[in-house]
Amino acid sequence: MRFDQRHLLGIEPLRPDEITTLLDLSDRYVTLNKRRDKHASVLSGLTQINMFFENSTRTQASFEIAGKRLGADVMNMAMQASSIKKGETLIDTALTLNAMHPDLLVVRHPQSGAVDLLAQKVNCAVINAGDGRHEHPTQALLDALTIRRAKGRLHRLKIAICGDIAHSRVARSNILLLGKMENRVRLIGPPTLMPSQIADFGVEVFHDMEQGLRDADVVMMLRLQRERMDGGFIPSEREYFHRYGLNAKKLALAHPDAIVMHPGPMNRGVEIDGTLADDINRSVIQEQVEMGVAVRMAAMDILARNLRASPKEVMV
Ligand code: ASP
Repeated sequence: MRFDQRHLLGIEPLRPDEITTLLDLSDRYVTLNKRRDKHASVLSGLTQINMFFENSTRTQASFEIAGKRLGADVMNMAMQASSIKKGETLIDTALTLNAMHPDLLVVRHPQSGAVDLLAQKVNCAVINAGDGRHEHPTQALLDALTIRRAKGRLHRLKIAICGDIAHSRVARSNILLLGKMENRVRLIGPPTLMPSQIADFGVEVFHDMEQGLRDADVVMMLRLQRERMDGGFIPSEREYFHRYGLNAKKLALAHPDAIVMHPGPMNRGVEIDGTLADDINRSVIQEQVEMGVAVRMAAMDILARNLRASPKEVMV
């Protein structure tokens, strides 16, 4: 098994076998994370810097815990309070940090493409923790791991992704990953929240939730990304919940064993009924958070092996 990437900037460049390699290694970290002693030393001696230019709770905490469990020296940069506010450019900030010899940079940025640009300027491994509406690769990988563990496979599944597709990097990375693994992806949402040309991605598009949910094996709900909207994309939250919110009645149209997912943060009563979100027989939302730590451990482990090893072949 091989993983030939120097960075993890998106799902787009990954081959299916590289995705499988990452998920197989993640499974091992799920086991480690259930132990009382969760320490491993694969990142020992390495420095990990988390640069979050956009707010984050679970992703930043998840990367920090992942790095610490693997023995890295982890530093969180408070980018809101940093020199960026004093006018320093992204590239200057990156070059300054680069001079401190980090091994892993974890970056979240509100602009699509900013993390790729940064990766070209530094000589360590870079992980994209979400750039604008472009990609959020570790989210798609943790979703894939959650699905594979719940369904026993990651191919030939009917997966419905519902809500604000247009502004969602989670949707984009998931569409790419699930497509590469040969699943049938359906997108459900109002026309105002559906990107134009989306059908080119090999997905089916539905504006009627009842139709789109029929027989789905997985129902993935998305948050309304208000911070990326400039104007009115929905009539009202009440109307939106009525048409595109998930409740038990609508879920009954999906496969009887369908699982319910949400990347968080979740707006209860807007995208999803709160009781359904907490229903441990249907909802895997907490598992997604658990898988997130394991996937980030696997991603940093594999990139660190590539930093150390040449040729870039990685054995798992
Ligand atoms: N946490 C995810 C992201 O950063 C999803 C969301 O914010 O709605 O994209």
